[in-house]
Amino acid sequence: MNSKIVSIREVAKDIREFKIQLDQPIRFIAGQYVMLMFEDKSKFRKAYSVSTYNAMDKTITLYIKLAGEFTHKLFSLKILDNLFVYGPYGKFILRQNRKLMFIAGGIGIVPLYSMINSLVNGQGFNDLRVYYACRYENEMALRSELEFLNKNNNINNVHVKLYFTREGSKERFKIEDVTSVKGFLDYDYFVCGPEVMMNELVSELKIIGVPEEQIYKESFIMKPRS
Ligand SMILES: Cc1cc2nc3c(=O)[nH]c(=O)nc-3n(C[C@H](O)[C@H](O)[C@H](O)COP(=O)(O)OP(=O)(O)OC[C@H]3O[C@@H](n4cnc5c(N)ncnc54)[C@H](O)[C@@H]3O)c2cc1C
Repeated sequence: MNSKIVSIREVAKDIREFKIQLDQPIRFIAGQYVMLMFEDKSKFRKAYSVSTYNAMDKTITLYIKLAGEFTHKLFSLKILDNLFVYGPYGKFILRQNRKLMFIAGGIGIVPLYSMINSLVNGQGFNDLRVYYACRYENEMALRSELEFLNKNNNINNVHVKLYFTREGSKERFKIEDVTSVKGFLDYDYFVCGPEVMMNELVSELKIIGVPEEQIYKESFIMKPRS
């Protein structure tokens, strides 16, 4: 559908928040993504997780990290420029379990933040733990939003731990960070980040005994259609 950019904001190093107004309402489930295509249809489509959907004004918010050709072209767009938006798509969405562990690396926080938003604003949960790693502090999007939730965790029961793997104490996520949580085998695990990180993490989760059906991961690498 034909859509237009209504705001652009730099939120971290090489990461921009784009608000896009759609010309039709969508049925969005937190965690899903849309496909973007330029107005000139010159390049193929790329996928971006929707961080929030506002049904009142039909806007979606995306967080996009500058990488290669497609994102360089996206970053050259201005407010009121048009884009084609398709979707939403995807099955990286919440299930029944109300005890949740979210583990993100880099821009992989976006679909998880979308779920956090829907949980905090109504869907309900018992316990939500968020582990979010970036290399440097200035690369971290959505930091203040997550820190706000963490500060008020007595009200909303969201526990957030941030890691900067190449700055300060250079702390990394360790599997003990989840095994130290009482009843860690009862939680659903949602994982999104670089492929290497996700593969290692999923193996570790299986080793500590988390059943496969309680582990959900989203890959940012689009597999070619067969
Ligand atoms: C479901 C889903 C959700 C996504 N959500 C988001 C999101 O919320 N935010 C976001 O920023 N991105 C997201 N992505 C990733 C996004 O779709 C693009 O892949 C990303 O923006 C890069 O596109 P690009 O064309 O700019 O870069 P590309 O040209 O694809 O390059 C990306 C990087 O990889 C390197 N590279 C390219 N090809 C290779 C190769 N063959 N081997 C090694 N390195 C290579 C490039 O040098 C560059 O650094 C998502 C992807 C999926 C599948």
